[in-house]
Amino acid sequence: MTQASVLSQQTLVLNRAWLAISTTTVRDALGLIFSGAAKAIRPETYETHTFESWADLAVPPEEPCVRTVTLRIRVPEVIVLTRFEKMPNRTVAFSRRNLYRRDRYTCQYCGATPGGGELSIDHVVPRSRGGRSTFENCVLACTACNHRKANRTPREAGMRLRQAPRAPKWTPILQVGVARVRQSWEQFISERYWEVPLEP
Ligand SMILES: [Zn+2]
Repeated sequence: MTQASVLSQQTLVLNRAWLAISTTTVRDALGLIFSGAAKAIRPETYETHTFESWADLAVPPEEPCVRTVTLRIRVPEVIVLTRFEKMPNRTVAFSRRNLYRRDRYTCQYCGATPGGGELSIDHVVPRSRGGRSTFENCVLACTACNHRKANRTPREAGMRLRQAPRAPKWTPILQVGVARVRQSWEQFISERYWEVPLEP
């Protein structure tokens, strides 16, 4: 592997609370570690390292590494920020796309998965009765269930929701495609992430 491609690979970035908040390039990750803004995490042991102690780690000959004139440095696959106090914003915007994602393209009344085109957004408490467009009041429903429920509450229609609708708590790392996720990241990314289907 060439140095340019090693340096342009992705590193997972955790905030001070060890929540995955983003990814950056290996090049930028090394810059953050070098400046003291981040520490490298050794995924096998969860040890954190400054630039000096990270550079001291031995890199097996067959493993990709970052080369300088005198050093072979292990590729930092996960780093943790040392300076930023701010917690990431974990509020997920209410949007059509995120609602489909949360409900996994499944009718929340009958469990059917007829495909995105056959599903629509149902207001649990109908809008005409003051029901709001929020994660807590909106679910996906198939055409049949939508017709059956019409302008009524589930109770009035004699229908049951499969689960109480809630606002999802996704970390921003959701934006990263699974194909680019390193194996060493899995332990740092919430379980929730793996349950959510990716966009087609
Ligand atoms: Zn249905």
